[in-house]
Amino acid sequence: MCMDARIDPIRILGLRPGDAHILRNPGALVGDQELRALAISQRKMGTTEVMVIHHTDCGAASLDEDELIAEIEADTGESPAWQRRPYETVAESVGRVRECDALPHRDKVRGFVFHVEDGRLVEVA
Ligand SMILES: [Zn+2]
Repeated sequence: MCMDARIDPIRILGLRPGDAHILRNPGALVGDQELRALAISQRKMGTTEVMVIHHTDCGAASLDEDELIAEIEADTGESPAWQRRPYETVAESVGRVRECDALPHRDKVRGFVFHVEDGRLVEVA
């Protein structure tokens, strides 16, 4: 899940303390650190399902975000995946989880986009 401070995952999912492990980073990306955390969560703490949740309007209001993207594009020659394309980013992250052999439970991996404008949670993958 993106670390955007406007989004309270406990509230939007109707969770109670103890219901879920929640991993957050800018852009809700699934990388090695997140796969490691999921492996620990599933293998050592008994979880069996994964939800990947990104959101609309991710950093879009900030000029600094535009500068950061330009800087990354200049350095790497590629556009960072997290910005303004929540549906594509979530689909990619869900794929990464489903393909991770370290995870014993990959049959219930779902992706969502949270719309900050109206609170809708739309399933992607
Ligand atoms: Zn965000």
